[in-house]
Amino acid sequence: MEFVSKRVQSLAVSQTLAMSQKSSELRASGVDVINLSVGEPDFNTPAHIKEAAKRAIDDNFSFYSPVPGYLSLRQAIVDKLSRENGLSFTPADIVVGNGAKQALCNVILATVNPGDEVIIPTPAWVSYVEMVKLAEGRSVLVPAGIESDFKITPAQLEAAITPRTRMLLICSPSNPTGSVYTREELQALVDVLAKYPDIIVLADEIYEHINYTGTFTSLGSFEAIAGRTVIINGVSKAYAMTGWRIGYCAAPTAIAKAVSKLQGQYTSGASSIAQKAAEAAYTGPQDCVHEMCAAFRRRRDLVVELASQIPGFKVNEPKGAFYLFPEVSGVLGKRFGDKVIATSGDLAMYLLEQAHVATVDGAAFCAPGYIRFSYATSDDNLREALSRIRHAIAQLQ
Ligand code: PMP
Ligand code: GLU
Repeated sequence: MEFVSKRVQSLAVSQTLAMSQKSSELRASGVDVINLSVGEPDFNTPAHIKEAAKRAIDDNFSFYSPVPGYLSLRQAIVDKLSRENGLSFTPADIVVGNGAKQALCNVILATVNPGDEVIIPTPAWVSYVEMVKLAEGRSVLVPAGIESDFKITPAQLEAAITPRTRMLLICSPSNPTGSVYTREELQALVDVLAKYPDIIVLADEIYEHINYTGTFTSLGSFEAIAGRTVIINGVSKAYAMTGWRIGYCAAPTAIAKAVSKLQGQYTSGASSIAQKAAEAAYTGPQDCVHEMCAAFRRRRDLVVELASQIPGFKVNEPKGAFYLFPEVSGVLGKRFGDKVIATSGDLAMYLLEQAHVATVDGAAFCAPGYIRFSYATSDDNLREALSRIRHAIAQLQ
């Protein structure tokens, strides 16, 4: 008797979460592991946001919230999208869910039919392909390597489009590469999309505020695709609130309604307390966002410098998010004793076991031959981790 559905059997386990779990287990068993696997800010949630949550408890925000979220939070999100991105949405276009993760999955489940194709530039975040699988869609991967700064070209996009294309799912600043598309680069992709009015554009902008270029262009700001672009964002990364689980989609009203219907059947509104905290994040002072971004930038410079010194690693300079995605093929094929490090997965495992540094295999992001480091940790941890990695690599023959 098989108890598990084919749907779930076909899903991969989230490698980012799995690697983080593995490193926590090793740490619990007494091994001094440095965890550069999971991507989450190491900062505490700012005090004024925590205060808002405490107030919400005392003010009895303990009842079911409306499925798409409190009107006051949705209004705060509408104001944020207008103020920071120049976009005009109404509260009816916003659905708040349990993190950007649920917001993404909601939109995919609400719009993708079985057999529909979803174009995903790769390297891509671990969960995109799996979410498309849940919707019984087909992911069409469009690869971009380190030599093109991990960004796809308009010609690549156009070549991937077929009559079955339902959606383009794109992330900038990117997890796992840190690449940020410029306005001009986005415009060139939009010029292609303008010719195909049935394609929905799903823009994951969760790393908007961890961006070292000084400018951010939302895909929602292009007139040519305005009626079919869905923005995903949330408080996890910008406000160091990963555990609070608040993210949202901003979508054409018909899609927002469909998302709300879906969410109403399987999770209801997100946590009432966390919503009030998120509202404080959007309406309160924004200095914390800039301070955290400045810290990430300093760490970016540090890891780029240290990782560039590792023989066999090819490194570019990420412009946003908090990940470094070195190409490691120069190390592959080498041996540690009688063990061959044949793949980037073998390398990630070797670094965990020998250097006690947890990273993630690029294959989890549809990009074998790379590994991902999250540099959202202290300078001391980063120095120590990179030094351990350099020594472990030096032992390979
Ligand atoms: N998109 C990307 C690219 C991410 O890296 C993450 C982080 N897990 C998410 C979405 C989901 O974020 P959240 O914590 O808001 O669910
Ligand atoms: N976005 C983070 C990461 O990529 C969190 C883990 C996850 O949700 O996958 O590591």
